[in-house]
Amino acid sequence: MKEFQLIRQIQRETSVASSCGVKLGIGDDAAVLEVPAGQYLVAATDTLNVGTHFPEDTSPYDIAFKCLAVNLSDLAAMGASPRWALLSLSLPEADPKWMQSFTTGFKSLAQVYDVALVGGDTTSGPLSISLTALGLIAPGRQLTRSGAKPGDLLVVSGTIGGAARALDLLQAGQAVIGRDLLDRPQPRVKLGQALVTFANACIDISDGLLADLGHVLKASGCGARIDIDKLPAAKSLAGLGDEARWNYQLSGGDDYELLFTLPPHHKELLATWSQQLDIKLSIIGEIEEGRSICCISPNGTIYDPQKAGFEHFSQKS
Ligand code: ADP
Ligand code: MG
Repeated sequence: MKEFQLIRQIQRETSVASSCGVKLGIGDDAAVLEVPAGQYLVAATDTLNVGTHFPEDTSPYDIAFKCLAVNLSDLAAMGASPRWALLSLSLPEADPKWMQSFTTGFKSLAQVYDVALVGGDTTSGPLSISLTALGLIAPGRQLTRSGAKPGDLLVVSGTIGGAARALDLLQAGQAVIGRDLLDRPQPRVKLGQALVTFANACIDISDGLLADLGHVLKASGCGARIDIDKLPAAKSLAGLGDEARWNYQLSGGDDYELLFTLPPHHKELLATWSQQLDIKLSIIGEIEEGRSICCISPNGTIYDPQKAGFEHFSQKS
């Protein structure tokens, strides 16, 4: 099978119904896209390498799903509406069956958000997938990492720690619980859009809560308090000891939940969003003056994750 046959297969099997604003898609030297007047283009790109960003045994379906999901998660963290994607594939062999599983996984998520695949590149080499997601936002309305203010509520969506737990179990050769959390993260696109004009800062959690909160605090020039007993736990963390569970929640990566800061006078919106979007939203602490993160354990004492002796799970780059 030749490269152009693969590309044609990708085109055929990923096309979504609406393809809004695509003046010219796959098939020419570049795509031509219409950005509606009065909107800004938002762009994000992420690469997934086998063994580093997904386990060797991951199905092509899940590789594609995750690759699109992590990029849509970046757009979600900006509050943008996804529109288009570009896909760069490095494949060890041209296998139409592999590709069919890949395109099915891609389309299963692409059609949820009406994302049109408008171009890319296909080469032969070690398995690696790069995706660029493009979206739209009203001018100046993007959520950023830099807007957090002392007094803001610190809020996280969904549950955390489950993806890292699944990866740990897999690597230890044990029965994996919650594999879906690792393979099929759900980008919080609608939540990100709802947060626009209300949240002061937002980031998606890819490298672990503490690491990603650290980015927000550095960009905003603030500190934060985390109440550990408020952290939402993935179901698969049940049965672990306190510190093992906290370590997954604080340091486990790959959950792709949104972490945002909300002025306290908007607190009542949390219940509305939670209900409308059917998503758990937990207030896990507060933005404070200073520069550091202070974790408070359930008995009111300060908990120092670094002294707990657990390793951070995220070794990605
Ligand atoms: P060029 O050599 O001019 O870059 P290619 O032969 O690489 O063109 O690609 C032909 C068309 O197929 C282009 O429109 C390109 O964007 C698209 N394409 C190539 N690979 C992919 C892919 N993996 N996914 C989506 N579109 C692709
Ligand atoms: Mg060309």
